[in-house]
Formats: sequence, structure tokens, C-alpha cells
Amino acid sequence: MKTEKLAKALRVHSGKHFRLKDFDPAFTGHWRSREQAERALLESIARMAELQDKLYAQDRWAVLLIFQAMDAAGKDGIIKHVMSGVNPQGCQVYSFKSPSDLELQHDFLWRTTHCLPERGHIGIFNRSYYEEVLVVRVHPEFLKNEKTPESLIGKNLWEQRFEDIRCFERHMARSGTVIRKFFLNVSKKEQKRRFLARLEEPEKNWKFSAADIRERGYWDDYQKAYEDMIANTASEHAPWYVVPADNKWFTRLVVSTVIVATLESLDLAYPKVDGAKRKELEAAKRILLSK
Ligand code: ATP
Ligand code: MG
Repeated sequence: MKTEKLAKALRVHSGKHFRLKDFDPAFTGHWRSREQAERALLESIARMAELQDKLYAQDRWAVLLIFQAMDAAGKDGIIKHVMSGVNPQGCQVYSFKSPSDLELQHDFLWRTTHCLPERGHIGIFNRSYYEEVLVVRVHPEFLKNEKTPESLIGKNLWEQRFEDIRCFERHMARSGTVIRKFFLNVSKKEQKRRFLARLEEPEKNWKFSAADIRERGYWDDYQKAYEDMIANTASEHAPWYVVPADNKWFTRLVVSTVIVATLESLDLAYPKVDGAKRKELEAAKRILLSK
């Protein structure tokens, strides 16, 4: 199967029949060797750079890439590797951690909203407003910190959050922001292996946080929250990709393939030079040549 087809198979654009257990974190399709996949990744990154240049020059579409995952699934590595070829000027990366006091004074979409990518740019969210239906859902006591009036916290709260997210994404799509969402699907076993490496290898010690082990204790609750989140917020215009994350080389290849396919699906082109502009260019050339 071609990588584009593989990526399509990992795409969820409707919640109907979606079950997380149908997606194997160790899946690598027809790719058997890391070397082969890394070569394809380099080609894909080069293509992405060409397309990003047009995206920027055309200045019409914005692209928002959202990454959500359990700890150690490889979000940071993906962002570093996959985006390594693109012009930093046309790319904005934001990480969303525990909300600040100021952020808690606002609704849950506020802090991400003013980080949305400008037209012509690729915006990357390392975590996002989806934390509201993940970590906050797994730890409902966080709702208290958010200071939402109690009378608004009813049994339909999560349904309402999903609806708000769907409406928000539809609005963004209708305004020209193309949204692609990635859930890096790592297995519990592989997460354990990566945590142990963080504990045992000195150069990885800094990555370890005691909170990671604590959250691992809620593994099943998180899996349920992810499944429900994907089922309720997958759409044609803002699909989720459930990316197998036990092999980093495969994760990176899939993500870059999706980004390239997304950019290719847009009508990207360098702006056409009209008559007046052409005259301006010719005049400038004459001036330069005359001196
Ligand atoms: P890394 O571990 O790779 O450095 P990270 O994204 O895991 O990156 P951390 O500082 O370890 O960063 O964790 C951020 C924490 O903030 C996560 O546990 C996440 O669930 C939490 N968080 C993010 N958004 C919210 C939110 N809206 N409410 C409460 N907690 C949140
Ligand atoms: Mg972390």
C-alpha cells in the first residue's frame, strides 16, 4: 500500500463505528526498515518545503496541525523532525501546558484562539483546547480551577464541550484554516520502555517528570477519553489521524505524508503578476540596469 493510502486508512472523519482498539500502535504497513522510511521522510520534507513556500506567497489559507498524545508518545520529536525543512518564518509552534491564572479567567477556547495561525502560515499546537476533554475530563476536579459557574456544569457538559469544539472548527474551516489533528497512538508497553530510558539514560533524565508516572496510572481513563474525543470531533473538514506511535520513524513518515497531502489538496500557487505589477517590475529593472 502506498504511504498516502496508509495515511488515508488512519484517517477518522466520522465518529460512526470508531473504536480505538481497531488501531494498532505498532502498525507500520509495508514499511519494514527504518532506513527506507527515513529516506521517504526526507523526500516528503523537501516536498513540504516547496508547498509551504507557495502557501506563504499565496497568503490565503492557514494550516493548523494539532498534536495530542499520552506522555512520551513523541510529540516533541515529530515537531522537530517533520518541520525541520520548512521555513521558520512561515511556521508557528505553541505548547499548551497547565493553564495560567490569566488563562483560567477565560473560557477554555480563549488561550488557543489568539495563537491560531495567520493566513499563509502553518500553526502547530503541541496539545490544545482538546486538553479540556482529556486531562480535565480524567480529573474533573480541574473544573473547579476553571471557575466555571457550578450551575453550568451538568451531566451534558462533555457533550456541550464537543459541540463547541465542532462549531469552532467548522467556523475556522469556513474562514480558510485547514485543520488536521493527530493522535499519536503509543501503547502502554512502549510508554513504559520510554519512561525507563528517561530514568536510565543520563541525557534523557531531564525529560522525566514524576507527573508522567502519575498520569500513567489513569491510562484506561485516558484511552476512553481519547476514544470519545475522536468519535465526537472527527469531521470531513477537521479529521483526526490515529497515528501508530510505537515506532517513531513510522509516526514521522505518516505525519509528514498527511501534511504534504493536505497542502497538495489546496489550490496553492504563487500570486499572478498583473499588468500594473509587471510594468512596475520592468521599470525597476530598467533603473537597476541604467546605473
Ligand atoms: P513534555 O513532557 O514532552 O515536555 P508536555 O506537553 O507533556 O511536554 P508537560 O509540562 O510535561 O508538557 O505537561 C503539560 C501538562 O499540562 C500535561 O499533563 C497536560 O495534560 C496539562 N494540561 C494541558 N492543558 C491543560 C488544561 N487545560 N488543564 C489542565 N491541565 C492541562
Ligand atoms: Mg510531559
